[in-house]
Amino acid sequence: MRKIIDAHIHVDGYNKEEQEALWEGAEAFIGVSSDYPSCFTHLEIAKENPKLRPAFGFHPEQTPPSAKEMTAIKELSKRHADQIVAIGEVGLPYYLKKKQPSLDMTPYIETLKEFIQLAEELEKPIILHAIYEDAELACELLKDKNVNAHFHWFKGSSETLREMIRRNYFISVTPDCLYEKEIQTLIEEYPLEFMMVETDGPWRFKGPFEGKITHPSMIHSSIEKIASIKRIRISDVYKALFDNTRRFYKLKGLK
Ligand SMILES: [Zn+2]
Repeated sequence: MRKIIDAHIHVDGYNKEEQEALWEGAEAFIGVSSDYPSCFTHLEIAKENPKLRPAFGFHPEQTPPSAKEMTAIKELSKRHADQIVAIGEVGLPYYLKKKQPSLDMTPYIETLKEFIQLAEELEKPIILHAIYEDAELACELLKDKNVNAHFHWFKGSSETLREMIRRNYFISVTPDCLYEKEIQTLIEEYPLEFMMVETDGPWRFKGPFEGKITHPSMIHSSIEKIASIKRIRISDVYKALFDNTRRFYKLKGLK
């Protein structure tokens, strides 16, 4: 079995022609949204391409949404609760804060709190962009909330990692696991039963993927790498990752 699910991809970041080339690459795609228009676009694409399973959110590495946009995203999520599989991509602005150390985090934290509440209300998992100390903060905000979390492209301390495992949170690994030592260590430490694979496309990768348009087929290399690091049979890794993602996102119509 070589079936895969891309657990995190920005389908709306590809042009029409590139989107057409994506569909054959995986059995399903968790299509994360970056703002209100992005939610709407994913909804539209999913009508034509049922492999796309949309998630609605607002990417944290930008100015937080206006009250009006936030309300619009919430209303759209409630109206299409049957069609969306999660709330995401949401989280905290790690890279923005790195560039502007004086950045006021308050509005970002407030926005994330609202999304956590929305996820709880709609009984959907949440897809988080929260790395290093932000992952710690996100764990804090999720405490005692009845929300399951997927920390996409996770990076962080062993301490946070242990807490995430204790809470049965999921992480996902991108093709950079082929050349990033930090991610290889993470794969060693994180249990396969709480792991997924993703591209975060159209984000571009280096190493063997330098200069290539990011495509879900790259995930096959990630799976081989995971199997070799964890010393588990490749076919078992395929099966585990597929089942994890299918179950986590309650994807219907996939066997
Ligand atoms: Zn993303």
